[in-house]
Amino acid sequence: MFETLSDRLDKVFTGLRGKGRLTDADIDATAREIRIALLEADVALPVVRAFINAVKERARGAEVSQALNPAQQIIKIVNEELVDILGGETRRLRYAKQSPTVIMLAGLQGSGKTTLAGKLGRWLKSQGHTPLLVAADLQRPNAVNQLSIVAGQAGVDVFAPEPGNGIGDPIRVAADSIEHARRSMHDVVVVDTAGRLGIDAELMAQAAGIRDAVQPDETLFVVDAMIGQDAVTTAEAFRDGVGFSGVVLTKLDGDARGGAALSVRYVTGQPIMFASTGEKLTDFDVFHPERMASRILG
Ligand code: GDP
Repeated sequence: MFETLSDRLDKVFTGLRGKGRLTDADIDATAREIRIALLEADVALPVVRAFINAVKERARGAEVSQALNPAQQIIKIVNEELVDILGGETRRLRYAKQSPTVIMLAGLQGSGKTTLAGKLGRWLKSQGHTPLLVAADLQRPNAVNQLSIVAGQAGVDVFAPEPGNGIGDPIRVAADSIEHARRSMHDVVVVDTAGRLGIDAELMAQAAGIRDAVQPDETLFVVDAMIGQDAVTTAEAFRDGVGFSGVVLTKLDGDARGGAALSVRYVTGQPIMFASTGEKLTDFDVFHPERMASRILG
């Protein structure tokens, strides 16, 4: 995860170590190198600009010019700015005052939504909740089956259309699931929705229809971190078409660059809430900006 960026930044900092006071020229040169490192990591340009400006401004201030160890100070600044760009504080799930809390998952096909539903189910259960996973992805022939399998692995219940009822209407299924959850005492409903390979109007309309039917407390935009900067355009399309309150980064285990992780919060203004780091249900955790920044800085 983020190997390239870590290596790059490490080289920048190594070059600074042993230097006494830093001149403005030193700071500019360092900022340039950090800029290249971020661009190589596929971070979106506006994010790179904002990041470099913040680092430069602070590096020119008293905390660096009067420091005995300026390299250390620069690392501290970069660390704090990374935490900031990743969202600052950890953003926890918001539960509804009245059960059930409804969490809707939205994202492109293959982004990892169904797997995430299982991971969330398992995690919610470990937190003492009684989740219900809802199969409102009726586009993909195998999606309902796949959700049942992950629900079984997670040891949680699933709500799916009866087999043999034709293709079914995902908006109807989603709406019915809330009633069902109320009756069956499930306190959190996780609604898995259909994705397409690319953004299209029909997909957005369906997701918006499900959103209106279930009125989610949280809408999580699920995005494959390996698509790099494309995550930004996808996120913008989902923000405008459906709207979301949080982001889940998936496949971070395969993301050597980090562009999506470092861009998506800044560009959408919504926090990264969870991270998936593998195919197993246990490869999943709450997203902690500080831990992620420390990881990047090695
Ligand atoms: P959906 O179409 O959005 O429901 O996506 P799926 O949940 O079916 O996931 C698509 C593929 O990505 C599957 O093969 C998953 O096993 C895999 N996958 C999901 N999350 C992760 C992850 O965090 N890391 C890795 N390496 N693979 C993942």
